[in-house]
Amino acid sequence: MIADSNNSLNIFVQNFDCHNHSTYSDGLLRPKDLVDLAKKSGCDAVALTDHDNTGGLAEAAVAALDADIRFIRGVELSVSWPGQPQASETADISPITIHVVGLGIDPDNSALVAGIASIRHGRRDRARQMGVSLSRMGINGIFEEALALAENKDMIGRTHFARAMVARGLAKNVGAVFGKYLTPGKPGFMSHQWANLCDATNWITGAGGVAVLAHPGRYKLSKQEMRALLTEFKAAGGTAIEVVTGSHEKHQYAEYAAYARDFGFMASRGSDFHGPVESRWQPGALPPLPADLTPVWSVLR
Ligand code: AMP
Ligand code: MN
Ligand code: MN
Ligand code: MN
Repeated sequence: MIADSNNSLNIFVQNFDCHNHSTYSDGLLRPKDLVDLAKKSGCDAVALTDHDNTGGLAEAAVAALDADIRFIRGVELSVSWPGQPQASETADISPITIHVVGLGIDPDNSALVAGIASIRHGRRDRARQMGVSLSRMGINGIFEEALALAENKDMIGRTHFARAMVARGLAKNVGAVFGKYLTPGKPGFMSHQWANLCDATNWITGAGGVAVLAHPGRYKLSKQEMRALLTEFKAAGGTAIEVVTGSHEKHQYAEYAAYARDFGFMASRGSDFHGPVESRWQPGALPPLPADLTPVWSVLR
């Protein structure tokens, strides 16, 4: 924690980590252990943003009180984005998956609860199909192993498959499994219909939260497509984009800072921490946001 010249706490320079996972989705730590690690790592505030569920927030909130660290109730929603309208006339019309983080949400809001339940629907079947597809290339029984690794069975996803496949010695780490088997065009990838962008932002803002576009640099969009996505996100009620995230390479911090300025977005910072060893960045360890950007947490209560 750093004090400003008036010796009062300056929220602009506090260490906020606004993107983390727990065992309620595909993280490796329990919510309490995540919060304790964030405190130990020097965070002033930590958000829990599990994929498509809020089950870990109550435990994390209690742990944060005990550990004397500010806690932000969050979620990370899976969204299918069809791309630019004119793109549908070209050959490649498959939607891409994007993630929208909600910060400062009321997890009991009924529209949010129903919305994220609808996103979760079909996850288990998708995983079963992934297992069938991988068995066609001789990798048998991996669905059952991935399911065993998912503490929250409703939230079985590609990360659990990746861990199961590393355990079998099929690749040296989770990232390598994704590259070889689990990304679009690879045998274990199953396309899936998630929420639409407008619904996702509405569920977040309707629950009192702010909508943040997660790791925009990961979507491999052209500049034109990125501008289309940011325009649509803003029109849908999006407030901020992640600029400094564990999913960005260093040069992308400046790139997405420029988009934030250009579009008038606030900026977020989050490690996208999933677990020690597995994740490149520990909670709170990323560089700070560029000083001229407005941190998204300045509007969180
Ligand atoms: P799912 O929601 O089942 O499609 O899984 C998405 C999750 O997979 C993300 O939240 C990341 O945790 C993980 N993931 C996606 N791509 C990669 C990658 N290239 N390397 C490592 N993990 C990845
Ligand atoms: Mn994840
Ligand atoms: Mn994500
Ligand atoms: Mn994430």
